[in-house]
Amino acid sequence: MQIPELWYSNVMGIAIREIHAKTILTKSGIPGSDYCVNAYVGCAHACSYCYATFMKKFTGHAEPWGCFIDVKTNAPELLSRDIRRAVKGNVMISSVTDAYQPLEAKYRLTRQCLDILCANRFPVDILTKSPLVLRDLDVIQRFEQIDVGITITTDDEGMRRVFEPHAPPISARIETLRKLKEQGVSTYVFIGPLLPMHPEKLAEKIRPHADAVLISGMNYPSKTAAVYRRRGITQWLEKGYTDDIQERLKKGLAGKDITIC
Ligand code: SF4
Repeated sequence: MQIPELWYSNVMGIAIREIHAKTILTKSGIPGSDYCVNAYVGCAHACSYCYATFMKKFTGHAEPWGCFIDVKTNAPELLSRDIRRAVKGNVMISSVTDAYQPLEAKYRLTRQCLDILCANRFPVDILTKSPLVLRDLDVIQRFEQIDVGITITTDDEGMRRVFEPHAPPISARIETLRKLKEQGVSTYVFIGPLLPMHPEKLAEKIRPHADAVLISGMNYPSKTAAVYRRRGITQWLEKGYTDDIQERLKKGLAGKDITIC
């Protein structure tokens, strides 16, 4: 699969370290997931609202979020070992990084982990912002149970650039969703956090290609409040305002399996 230069270019200037992790199949606190697999620490997508920045407390990275990535090069070996003694359960890929961020095109750790999970018949839930997930369609289609989610937080490409500066554009994510659905994959869209958007337009774009939708507000306003203030869009942090957007999204997506989280 060809990955546009846009996503490779962001890897330049990032501190990349190859590390050996101790575990890879970790217990998950996310509802609906028993385990999570994170083959990378850090994420080149550098979303300004990213909740996973708390990882820095444990890893001791001095670089800003988005400027470092640790690559767990032994992730497949660890997973092969861990999975032998694990009780079967749903695995989230990934919970504190994007498993299909640009470096995955080189390291293929997510793909190797998927292969192992598939061979051991573990159900999987993938959530990503990247079309790179399409590279692994052949593995995805071998699973007995798998859902692939694409995060799409707005229909406004300008806002996407502000809040998710190095993540793939919205049009690429919609196209990824379309291709997954076309290939018979169970799909969902995670609309979260709710960024400034036109809800009816966003609903129209994702409606044909998503089996289910998860909607989540801005749970980490303190991380992004300054951006909203600078742009004069602070109403988007007010609950009453985003509740209305949520209702309009629900209306536009009526008939879909919608979860508010
Ligand atoms: S893609 Fe996900 S993990 Fe990566 S920076 Fe954005 S919110 Fe964080």
